[in-house]
Amino acid sequence: MATDDTGISRRAFGAGAAGLAALGPAQASAKPAKPSPIPTGKPFILTTWDFGAGANAIGWPMLAGGGSALDVVEAAINHVELLGDYWVGAGGVPNEVGETTLDAMIMWGPTHDAGAVGCLKRVKKAISVARKVMEETQHSLIVGDDATRFAARMGFTESSLTSVVSQQAWDNWAAKGEKTNAFDPEPIGKDSKLVGHDTVGSIALDAAGNLCVGCSTNGREFKIPGRVGDSPIVGAGAYVDQAVGAAVATGNGDVMMRFLPTYHAVELMRGGMAPQAAAEATIKRIADAGYSIDGGIAVIRRDGMHGGAKTGWADTPFSYSVQTAAGNVKVPVA
Ligand code: ASP
Repeated sequence: MATDDTGISRRAFGAGAAGLAALGPAQASAKPAKPSPIPTGKPFILTTWDFGAGANAIGWPMLAGGGSALDVVEAAINHVELLGDYWVGAGGVPNEVGETTLDAMIMWGPTHDAGAVGCLKRVKKAISVARKVMEETQHSLIVGDDATRFAARMGFTESSLTSVVSQQAWDNWAAKGEKTNAFDPEPIGKDSKLVGHDTVGSIALDAAGNLCVGCSTNGREFKIPGRVGDSPIVGAGAYVDQAVGAAVATGNGDVMMRFLPTYHAVELMRGGMAPQAAAEATIKRIADAGYSIDGGIAVIRRDGMHGGAKTGWADTPFSYSVQTAAGNVKVPVA
């Protein structure tokens, strides 16, 4: 484990009493006030879009068996990453030069630790690489070819992320002489024409009362090579606060990341706002700034109360699904 020049490791800082024991007397006197106990709550898993029920069906048995929310979120998102869907994971959404690259992030409530990858190439399980960034390093975000090299160091296998479908999509687009729309003017005060993007986001609370959130995406179709969206940015694509709850976002990430919507929503809940009201206020902030985009957010408090809101997507039904011991419920977001 790496240490800084005080000899204290980052993990020791997150290790409660064990971490404090490593501090000298002067530092120990700066001990923070004891946090109030957090109610355990009943386990749940929430996953966005139509992926929800399938991803929750992977995660729920793990939660019901006492599994860790961290393992559950990773497994639920891995399931979607490997579906061969065009929008998330391998085989999806090529960039301007026909290559599929992935963004993903995972954040663990008990330690407020996060790991993420941006513009990850040639590795399928982006959320698992993000977990390695969180658990094996002091970093929070690693990008591009270096993220691929990091994944290889962690034992991941490299393989092409191109599928017949993604190749065909790019061939058709290029044959028409299309250009990336990423150079178009910002979508302020006019309807956004942006199509071709999607993300899966999952939030779980386990029986031990620990919250985890994660998200994974191919980003935006025909993006400029090197583009990293909102998903791997803490507080943009996803955010968790162990004492409050968590949120996941989807939509035009180039705009949404400017508002840190998942951080915003969780902070509104911390202030006492109900989940549905927090989701709506967060999305309204983006619209109020004049942006006309497609975007959505799903939020859940640690007691299981949830809510969602969206802007745009007139013809695209955004939804999320929540699984508890009572079963799975799909929630359409109006
Ligand atoms: N937020 C994703 C991105 O911009 C795409 C999406 O969720 O629709 O990378």
